[in-house]
Amino acid sequence: IICDIDYIMKISYMGTGYVGQVSGAVSAHYGHDVVLVDIDKKKVESINQGKPTIFEKDLDEMMEDLVINKKKLRATLDTHQAVLDTEASFICVGTPDRGGMIDLSYIQNVSKSIGKALKDKKQFHLVIVKSTVVPGTTINTVKPIIEEFSGKKAGVDFGIAMNPEFLREGLAVSDNIDPDNIVIGTQDEKSQKMLKEIYAWAAKEKYTFVNVTAAEAIKYAQNSFLAMKITFANEWGNYCDVMGIDAKEVLDAIGADRRISPMFLRNGPGYGGSCFPKDVNAIVHSGQINHSPFRILEEVVATNNKQYLSLIDLAKSKIGSIARRKVGILGLSFKPDTDDTRESPALKIISYLVSQGCNIKAYCPQGTEMAKKWLTDNRITEIFYANSAEECVKDVEFVLIPTDWPEFRELLPKITVPTFVGHRSFVNPDNFENVYSLGFPKK
Ligand code: NAD
Repeated sequence: IICDIDYIMKISYMGTGYVGQVSGAVSAHYGHDVVLVDIDKKKVESINQGKPTIFEKDLDEMMEDLVINKKKLRATLDTHQAVLDTEASFICVGTPDRGGMIDLSYIQNVSKSIGKALKDKKQFHLVIVKSTVVPGTTINTVKPIIEEFSGKKAGVDFGIAMNPEFLREGLAVSDNIDPDNIVIGTQDEKSQKMLKEIYAWAAKEKYTFVNVTAAEAIKYAQNSFLAMKITFANEWGNYCDVMGIDAKEVLDAIGADRRISPMFLRNGPGYGGSCFPKDVNAIVHSGQINHSPFRILEEVVATNNKQYLSLIDLAKSKIGSIARRKVGILGLSFKPDTDDTRESPALKIISYLVSQGCNIKAYCPQGTEMAKKWLTDNRITEIFYANSAEECVKDVEFVLIPTDWPEFRELLPKITVPTFVGHRSFVNPDNFENVYSLGFPKK
């Protein structure tokens, strides 16, 4: 149920990555006047031409319409002016992993800029943390920095709130247009009222009202639960291999139980992406330093860190030594329908194969550019990037498919060399002579 908004708010989004671009565009789609702020000139220029800088289904048309036709969305490099021009600012900058903890430098920098701008502002302004930050960060880091640089008081001159983001890359636009849950973490009534105005388009039963620290915790509880669920499926996949059981039959059957649900219950070569690995690490660390360890999540991290090797082991079990072989890798992004290759099992697999002297050809429908950058930064340069999936599987000795892009399915009948698939749910290996998958005990 979508409701109309009564009040068109002027809103800025600080940080124009996956989260800022999508949630900013969706706010504008529902009628608010939105400005996206970034320190990256190329992103700002591209958005002002109506072009997203990320690959997300439906975002191209939406952004072009909002920027060029409706003039509801624009981008700027000027944080100061954006704060003065708007009533609320979402913080959407990155919080990358630094040795198991989150790097707060981007959060600190943007909080300083917001604080300095608020010094010059007379009206109340709401600051909402949307980035994923460990419980306590908004109150202990963001709030004092803004208070120091603005000379103003939170809850009186400006509001402080936390509204975690739950989008799934690849489905980010539809997840934002019709979210399951909108978590509104606030400390004062005025901030809560403003957030209700921002999300006035959503059905009221979608709201969860909590305090700021609980909002931060909800994001970690959710992501760590999903990472744990994937890891559970992966370990069942490994076990089924050994026991001669088809893992898909087991996982599909338990997924049919509504208490369990089939979502995130497919075995594969490990979870990746910019969120699960860093979020589970960060909450494990927070548990340790606060003397309340998450033993189960510590195991999830350890298990996932080696799960990518299961695909290599599967190949070894069928073709013997893989050293110095010619290998085709189909799929580099951490999952289909995204260009994001951060923490992708495919890149861990490539690093391992290169260390074994393999000769690699790689192809991904969207992830090649980001993968190339990461691999080059890690001094892995001897990769041939194919222009098509067909080219990638030519003149190689075996093929690995760590990421299950649906379009690779059509190619399977044409591949003549042994092919090893990470996700059992992607294909039934029994339909092909030369195809093997994790979680499927083919003799
Ligand atoms: P990202 O790296 O794609 O984008 C961050 C952007 O912030 C970059 O464009 C960067 O240039 C910009 N930036 C850095 N410092 C800035 C500053 N001082 N002022 C303005 N812009 C600045 O990150 P992302 O994937 O969008 O994630 C952002 C946050 O949201 C992270 O905390 C992440 O954990 C969380 N999150 C991400 C997802 C996801 O699927 N990507 C989902 C939910 C939550």
